[in-house]
Amino acid sequence: MREFELIRQYFAEQNVARKDVELGIGDDCAVVRLAENKSLVVTTDTLVSGVHFPTDTDPKAIGHKAIAVNLSDLAAMGAEPCWVSLALTLPEVDEAWLKEFSAGLFELCEFYNVQLIGGDTTQGPLSISVTAHGVVPNGTQLTRSGARPGDWVYVTGNVGDAGLALQAIFGEASLPQDTFDKVKKRLDYPSPRVLVGQSIREHATSAIDISDGLLAELGHLANNSNVGFNINLEQVPVSNELMNSLPTEQAYCLALTAGDDYELLFTASDEKKVALETAMTHSGVKFACIGQVNGSNNIELNLEGKPFDIETEKSGFKHFS
Ligand code: ADP
Ligand code: MG
Repeated sequence: MREFELIRQYFAEQNVARKDVELGIGDDCAVVRLAENKSLVVTTDTLVSGVHFPTDTDPKAIGHKAIAVNLSDLAAMGAEPCWVSLALTLPEVDEAWLKEFSAGLFELCEFYNVQLIGGDTTQGPLSISVTAHGVVPNGTQLTRSGARPGDWVYVTGNVGDAGLALQAIFGEASLPQDTFDKVKKRLDYPSPRVLVGQSIREHATSAIDISDGLLAELGHLANNSNVGFNINLEQVPVSNELMNSLPTEQAYCLALTAGDDYELLFTASDEKKVALETAMTHSGVKFACIGQVNGSNNIELNLEGKPFDIETEKSGFKHFS
């Protein structure tokens, strides 16, 4: 199968046809129309087989995840996702794989009315690079630099489940089958918090998505906002699956350091606390207030009022370690 045929068969047909796409797949470039009062928000994330997902991952999950990780970045900026492009490097043309992969990719695109507008297809070790484009009303994007001492700190969903699945896959934890199935689903099919990002846009002071672990992301907010944090671990949202699988301290360690959750971490001032919590309640996504921003440059972790020590080398996934 030639490159052109492959694109036509697996990527050119989709159920999303946005009015703001003047030219989609098929020309040298795509052309999209931007509303006058909107700013373009752009992000790229690459998934490399064996690095960002285990080599035997279901192709449908790979397609889902390639889109999800990018929509999660847009969500962290408070952006509405609109268009994606796909740079796909494949070792060979495997039609069964392509069918599943594109089904996973388009399912999430359709859910958020996101259109695939172009890409590139090359041969080599399996790697998927997606560029996602979104919009925000001019100047309203959320950033990592807006947290201020006294702000409250929030997390959506649960953290640590994807990390628990990875531990089981790599033989570091042994889990009952039903527990494994549940956390594996969280690893393979993360839910980007797209609507949460947009609904907290006018209430939050800063936001970031949790791709490399809660502690690492708190570190990014701390550096970019020049603040510190007091975090109460017993308020960090963790699943029953995680708490029932590991001793308490290990479970919190995983919740703090494991990546791949794609939840949102954000801050809000005391004045906006009620408005923000109301907006979150309307979004229907579970959320928790896990602590407060302070004026130091330290992240202080407490468990039931006692300081919680965590070795610094555990603070997140390091790409070149
Ligand atoms: P060029 O050589 O001019 O870059 P290509 O032959 O690479 O063009 O691509 C032809 C068209 O198909 C372009 O519009 C490109 O954006 C699109 N395309 C290529 N690969 C993909 C892909 N994996 N998914 C979606 N669109 C793709
Ligand atoms: Mg090309």
